[in-house]
Amino acid sequence: MIIDCHVHVNQYELLKNVSSLEERLNMLQIEMASNNVDYALILSSYKVNSERPSTKQIIDAIKKYDNLGVVAGVTVDNHTDEEFQLYKQWIRDGLIKGLKIYAGYEHYYPYDERYNRVYDACQEFDIPVMIHTGDTYSPTGKLRYSRPLNLDDVAVEHPDVKIVLCHLGNPWIQDAQEVIYKNHNVYADISGLVVGDFDHYFEKMMKEKVAELINYAGEPRYLMYGTDWPISTMDSYLNFVAKLKIKKEYRDLLMYQNAKDLFRIS
Ligand SMILES: [Zn+2]
Repeated sequence: MIIDCHVHVNQYELLKNVSSLEERLNMLQIEMASNNVDYALILSSYKVNSERPSTKQIIDAIKKYDNLGVVAGVTVDNHTDEEFQLYKQWIRDGLIKGLKIYAGYEHYYPYDERYNRVYDACQEFDIPVMIHTGDTYSPTGKLRYSRPLNLDDVAVEHPDVKIVLCHLGNPWIQDAQEVIYKNHNVYADISGLVVGDFDHYFEKMMKEKVAELINYAGEPRYLMYGTDWPISTMDSYLNFVAKLKIKKEYRDLLMYQNAKDLFRIS
């Protein structure tokens, strides 16, 4: 079984000719089927425009699929109180499985108190918060906000909130592994380590870094498979994880079990 805990349906350059959300969802289904991916979580964006559907548009568009769930992007600048109240209702209704903060893309530290309502909601409803860390896909992102060490503050101040450190903080993977090791409430996904496909040397380097992270932080009850599709490709990612030298039970945790438990995917 495979759960991809981190995909997008925004119209990135790689999908520049695919202008409707329905078509992009259809492409996602084809990509999942051809790679034997059983379930995927779609992360809605930090902004809404013609290329980036709203959380509501995604919730409506995926109703016909039983293998997709939604993690809703929340921002300080682009989301109103009314929208946030709607989010809470959708969480209660089981339509949203987690919230996502785009630190770096949005120029606030993840421990900024303006995000406290996000952490409070995650605690109240016992759903995880995903936080972008590491390189930003956009050059207008600011890296000091996306460094993984910032999540240590969030983890300490909100010990009952389950936090997912996205992208292993790449390239600050050593910082990420310490934040994961130290804080029982910090999880991580391995998505978005590459744009497009891994080439041989980059794949080898990343394989070593992920192995080092697991050696340092211990049994990977915290680590989840994710791709960042369509920014990274699914077949290249499956090839990458196939080469990781990890025990069978660790592989099961990584590929589906941790995500299944954390996001309560049935
Ligand atoms: Zn992403």
